[in-house]
Amino acid sequence: MLTERLKKLTPYLPGEQPQDREYIKLNTNENPYPPSPAVGEYLKTMDIGSLRRYPDPLFGELRGALAERYGVEADQVFVGNGSDEVLSFIFYAFFDSRNGPLLFPEFTYSFYPVYCDFYSTAFQKVALKADYSVDIDGFLEKGPSCGLIFPNPNAPTGIGLPLEQVARLMDRYPSDRVVVVDEAYIDFGGESAVALMEKHANLLVVRTFSKSLSLAGLRLGFAMGDQHLIKALYTVKDSFNSYPVDTLAQKAGLLAVQDRAYYDRITARVIAAREAFSADLDRLGWFFLPSAANFVFAGKKGVPGKEIYRNLKARGILVRYFDIAGLKDFVRITIGTGQEMKALVTAIEESFQGL
Ligand code: PMP
Repeated sequence: MLTERLKKLTPYLPGEQPQDREYIKLNTNENPYPPSPAVGEYLKTMDIGSLRRYPDPLFGELRGALAERYGVEADQVFVGNGSDEVLSFIFYAFFDSRNGPLLFPEFTYSFYPVYCDFYSTAFQKVALKADYSVDIDGFLEKGPSCGLIFPNPNAPTGIGLPLEQVARLMDRYPSDRVVVVDEAYIDFGGESAVALMEKHANLLVVRTFSKSLSLAGLRLGFAMGDQHLIKALYTVKDSFNSYPVDTLAQKAGLLAVQDRAYYDRITARVIAAREAFSADLDRLGWFFLPSAANFVFAGKKGVPGKEIYRNLKARGILVRYFDIAGLKDFVRITIGTGQEMKALVTAIEESFQGL
């Protein structure tokens, strides 16, 4: 009963969401703090009768709030059911490998090759630099390509790319090919490329509500870019599902975007915990990459990432390891509350110090 195209798919493997016991969950880059209290208030008091109706297919209010927040026009904003969906529509709309392969970094968000597989888009990976940062010149030195995509900060390394380097890339890359900067983690210390949108009509910036806005369970993401690109994303949406973002998500998302003061506070806490944790890793003799995100990519010399993962899991702490050549020495550790990070440091001290 299965189609040939289905048989060829290798799906993305999300991080564990175990239901068997309570873990300190530092494996999927979720926010340790709850969303804005305004979201809770809305969900408690909302008019259930409003759910009789379909949601606004154009996400008018939410789009307007996002446009205002980022200093762009409402028709330069597209909203989707999580940034994974937004990315999927982008792959469908813009990456046609008859124009060359899609380029992305060798170590990056592992959903990109999955979408390539899904949409039959050829791709080429571009090696990271020796310090694990994204190599802009590596992108520019490749032959013709149908577009390029990279997260900033990159995942799973956490390393941010300075805006000046993204600008250099945009100035040199062909202006008739789409460049996607996936800014899932930008609020934790990266420099956003939104400022380059005015000059570059081929730039799309993708964001999520799942990380800094603490709404991973709601499924909201968005893209910002030139009107023509955004219009193309609406065409994809309306050829697939007219209502991917439900009424609750649109309204709760709007309230979250409007509560900047709350989110500035919790983001500052995550950043402070990341810096304290990095100092602890340093003290304990672990290696780690400088992170501009809400996670740290770290390891202990002579101990494979998988062993670190197993050991911490047995102690009730979940982190993520990658069974990929070149990354096997690392684990990716999401930044939790100060208290969770202290528990992790104690677990590390108890289980790995003699090794
Ligand atoms: N981009 C990157 C780089 C990510 O790490 C993630 C989270 N797994 C996403 C996009 C997707 O996030 P979401 O679908 O929750 O918006």
